[in-house]
Amino acid sequence: MNMLTLPMTGHCRCGQVEVRVTAPPLLTGACHCTGCQRMSSSAFSLSVAISHDSFEVTKGEPVIGGMHGDEARHFHCPHCKSWMFTRIGSGANAFVNLRPTMLEDASWFVPFIESYTSEKLPWATTPAQHSYKEFPPMEAYLALMAEYGKQQGEDH
Ligand SMILES: [Zn+2]
Ligand SMILES: [Zn+2]
Repeated sequence: MNMLTLPMTGHCRCGQVEVRVTAPPLLTGACHCTGCQRMSSSAFSLSVAISHDSFEVTKGEPVIGGMHGDEARHFHCPHCKSWMFTRIGSGANAFVNLRPTMLEDASWFVPFIESYTSEKLPWATTPAQHSYKEFPPMEAYLALMAEYGKQQGEDH
């Protein structure tokens, strides 16, 4: 498997918005829910979870799109409308789910978990090590992040 190198940089389809990641991901995943199918125009969305203070928009002004909800805010390039990242939560616990295909190099990316397999297209499979019919229960995240971090540490 390819290794990631920090900082990681990325951009939308047209290049008007650029982002930067300065710390290793907390978790990686794929989501098969029908909402992600619609927003990604694909079988599933991909996410790299990053703590909010390790992520920055270095160019451009992304705009809210998607569900315009309070819990998860979906950010898009104002010009090309690429779905770039999602901000979840607020304060110290806030984190960002970046779509890894925005990165200059996404070759290191493998989804560690997959969610909403209950809604997946029949043929859609991923190499995720943990599968959930919906989202993992909240209390599972700490253990998942610990296991993911441990495996990343062993790879490096
Ligand atoms: Zn763009
Ligand atoms: Zn989803």
